[in-house]
Amino acid sequence: MYFALPTQSADDIAYVVIGVVSVAMVLAGLRLHRPESRLPWLLLVGYIALSVIGDGIENLGYGVILARPVPLPSAADPFYLAAYPLLFIGVTRLCQRTHDRRSRESHADAAIVVVAALALSWHFLMRSYFHDSSIGPLGKIVMLSYPLMDLGLVFIIVQSLVFGTARRAAHRILVVALLASLVSDFTYDVMVQYGHYAVGNVIDGGWLLNYMLIGVAALHPTMAAKPSGRDLTVPDSGRRIPLLALAGFVAPAILLVSSAVKATVDVPVIAGTSIVLFSLVSLRMSWQFERVRADALALEDALRRREELESDLRHQAFHDPLTGLANRMLLHRQVERVLAQPAGTRPLTAVCFCDLDGFKTVNDSLGHLYGDDLLAITAERLLSVVRAGDTVARLGGDEFAVLLESAGEPETVAAVADRIVAIMREPAELAGRQIAVSVSVGVALAGPHTTAEQLLSEADIAMYEAKRLGKSRWEMFLPAMQSQTFERLELTNAFRGSLERDEFFLLYQPLLRLLDGCLEGFEALVRWRHPDRGVIAPNQFIPVADETGFVVPLGRWVLETACEEAVRWQRESGRDLTVSVNLSSRQLQERHLCDDVRTALAVSGLSAGQLLLEVTETTLLADSEEIRASLSGLKDFGVRIALDDFGTGYSSIAYLRHLPLDVLKIDKSFVETLGGPGDEGEALVSTVLRFARILKLRTVAEGIESGDQLQALRNLGCDSAQGFFFAHPLTENEVDQLLVQPAATFRSL
Ligand code: C2E
Ligand code: MG
Ligand code: MG
Repeated sequence: MYFALPTQSADDIAYVVIGVVSVAMVLAGLRLHRPESRLPWLLLVGYIALSVIGDGIENLGYGVILARPVPLPSAADPFYLAAYPLLFIGVTRLCQRTHDRRSRESHADAAIVVVAALALSWHFLMRSYFHDSSIGPLGKIVMLSYPLMDLGLVFIIVQSLVFGTARRAAHRILVVALLASLVSDFTYDVMVQYGHYAVGNVIDGGWLLNYMLIGVAALHPTMAAKPSGRDLTVPDSGRRIPLLALAGFVAPAILLVSSAVKATVDVPVIAGTSIVLFSLVSLRMSWQFERVRADALALEDALRRREELESDLRHQAFHDPLTGLANRMLLHRQVERVLAQPAGTRPLTAVCFCDLDGFKTVNDSLGHLYGDDLLAITAERLLSVVRAGDTVARLGGDEFAVLLESAGEPETVAAVADRIVAIMREPAELAGRQIAVSVSVGVALAGPHTTAEQLLSEADIAMYEAKRLGKSRWEMFLPAMQSQTFERLELTNAFRGSLERDEFFLLYQPLLRLLDGCLEGFEALVRWRHPDRGVIAPNQFIPVADETGFVVPLGRWVLETACEEAVRWQRESGRDLTVSVNLSSRQLQERHLCDDVRTALAVSGLSAGQLLLEVTETTLLADSEEIRASLSGLKDFGVRIALDDFGTGYSSIAYLRHLPLDVLKIDKSFVETLGGPGDEGEALVSTVLRFARILKLRTVAEGIESGDQLQALRNLGCDSAQGFFFAHPLTENEVDQLLVQPAATFRSL
C-alpha cells in the first residue's frame, strides 16, 4: 500500500501511520496475551514510538511542513538514537534467559562477529564520515552513531538467530524485524554516501517491515508462553564455527585486498580491531579450556562414583547380607575356578556342606532375631576352623558350605569336618540362655572329572546322609548314597496319591502264648503294591515315609484298618484277640496321634485294651518330652505300649524304667543266639527277661525260626512269641482259615 501511494507527502503520512499502527498492535498483543513480563514489550513500544517521532520530524516536519532538506544533525536524530537502546534491551530481555558459562562464551562469539563487522563497516562507511571535512564534529558523531547502533543489532541477531537463543516463533519474528532494519540501515548509509536516497525508496520497506513485524510478534500467541526447561539450555550449535572463522579473516582480508587495489586503509583501526579480535578469541579459548576441564573433572567424578556403586553392587550380588559370607553364586564360581585347573596340577579340593540341626526349632521358639544371631554365630565358628584361603559361604536358610581349596590329604579334610562338628556342638548363648546346637556335615572330594555342580550336590547328599544317621556328625560322600537319594526321590513321588489308589494292604503275623500255644492276636504289617515294582516291604519305604511325613496319613490308615479287622475277627471267631500296630518316630511326634488312636477305636468299636502300639527302641532314643507325653496320653485311655526290637538300640535297662511301657519285644538278633553252641545267648536272654519281670513288663520274642529256639525261650520263661516257625505274616483270608481251627492247637505246639 505504501509503495502504491501517488505522492511523496502521502508516503510521509503513511509512514507515520504505519508506525502508529504497529504501536497499537504491540499494545493489543499485550492486552490479548498478558505476558508475565510486560517490560520488554513496553521497551519495544518505546522504540517504535521514538522512531515514529523521528520519522514524523524528518518526513512531516522537514519534508512537508518546512519543505527543506534535513540538516545534519537534525532534530530527528536524538529520537532515532535514543530508540536503539530500547530495542536492544527489549529484544535481549526477551530472547536471552541462560546465565551459564556457555552464555558467556556466546557473548564473546557474538562480540567477535561484531568486531569483524566493525572493521568492515569502518572500511566501507565510517571512515568516509570520519575523514569528511565538510561535516562538523557533532554531525560526525551523529553520522558515526548509526553504524555503531547497527553493530549492536548485529550482536543481537547473531546471538539470537545463529546461536539459537530465540526459540519461540514470536522471538524469531522479532529478530527478523531487526534483520530488516539492519539491512535497510546499511543500504541507507551506503546510498546516502553516494547521494541516491529519497523517501519512498524500496529500503523504506525494511523499516516499515521492522515496525510491522514487531507488532506481529506481539500479537503472536507464543509471545506469552512460559519458558520451558529446553529454553534454559543453549545448544552448542555447529553454526558458529564457520562464522567465527570468517570473522577472523576480515581484518587481514581488508589489508590484502586494499594493498592489491592500492586503496588506502586506516591501519590503526584495522590493527586495533585485529588486536581486539585476537584478544576475544584468546579469552574465548581460555574459557573453553576451563569448561572442558570442569567437564572432564565432573565426568571423572561421575565415573568414580559409578565404579564405587558397581563394586558395592558386586559385593551385594556375591555376599550374604546377614553374615557377610560369600553367597551361593560366589561359592559356585569359586568352585568352578578351582576345578578349572587341570586335575594333575591342582591340590585336593573338598566341599563341606553344613546344615544346622533343629534350626527351625530355635527360630520358632526364640524368634527370627535370635535365629539370625545363631546364623551369625555359626558363620563366625565356621570361619574360625578354616584357613584363610578357604571360602565359607551361606547358601541360604541354615545351610552353609566350606570350600577347602588346598586340603592336601583326605585326612586334613576329615580333620576340618571333625572341627566343624565339634565347634558347633558347643552351646550358643542366645537370649541370655545356653542353647544346644549342632550341625550335620556332608563332605565331598573332587575327582579328576568332577564338575562344580556335581561336587556341591555330592556334598549335599552326604549331608543328608549325616542327618539320617542321627545328626551332629559328618559323612563323606559315597557313590552308593547317590542311588539312595535317587531312590528316596522316586519313592516320595510314588507316595503321591498311593493311599487314594488303595495301593497298601496289611498282613497279620500271629502272636502266641508260649505257656499253652494259645493264639493271642496278630501284628499288623503293612505292604505296598507299588505300580511298577510289585509288592514292597516296609523296611524299604517306611524310613522314607517317615522322613517325608507321609507316614502320618499312612499310619492313620494302618491303625483304622487294623482296628476294624480285629473287631471282625472277634465277631466271627468269638475270641478275645489283640492287634499290634507299629508306630514310627514321626507319628509319635505328631500332636494328633492320641486323637487318631481314639478315633480309630471309636469308629471300629475295638476296646482300648485290645490294641497294642509298638514303638522301636531307636524312636525312644530320640528321647523328647513330646514322645513321653504322647505315650502317657495313649496309656491314659487304656492302650498298651510295646517296645519293639529291643536289643538293637543302645538303651540302658535303667532308662526303660522311666517309660510308660507294657510289653518288651526281644529282637530277633537275640533269639538267633539261642539253641546254638554255648550258653552265652541263653544267659543274655535270661538277663533281659529277668529285668522285664522286675519292670513288670510282658515279654514277646520275635523272629523264632526253629523248635530249639522255641524250646529255649519256653524254658527261660518268655511270655509270648512270634516267628516264621509258627507263621509268616498272613493275608486276611489266611487269618480267617486260621481262626476256624481250635484256639490251642497251633502248628507244632
Ligand atoms: P517289626 O515290627 O519288628 O516286625 C517284624 C518283622 O519281622 C516283620 O517284617 C516280619 O515279617 C519279620 N519277621 C517275623 N518273624 C520272622 C522270622 O521268624 N524271621 C525273620 N527273618 N523275620 C521275621 P516286615 O513285615 O518286613 O516289617 C519290617 C518292619 O517294618 C517292622 O518290624 C516294623 O518296624 C515296620 N513296619 C511294618 N509295618 C508297619 C506299619 O504299619 N507302620 C510302621 N510305622 N512300621 C511298620
Ligand atoms: Mg513291630
Ligand atoms: Mg520287631
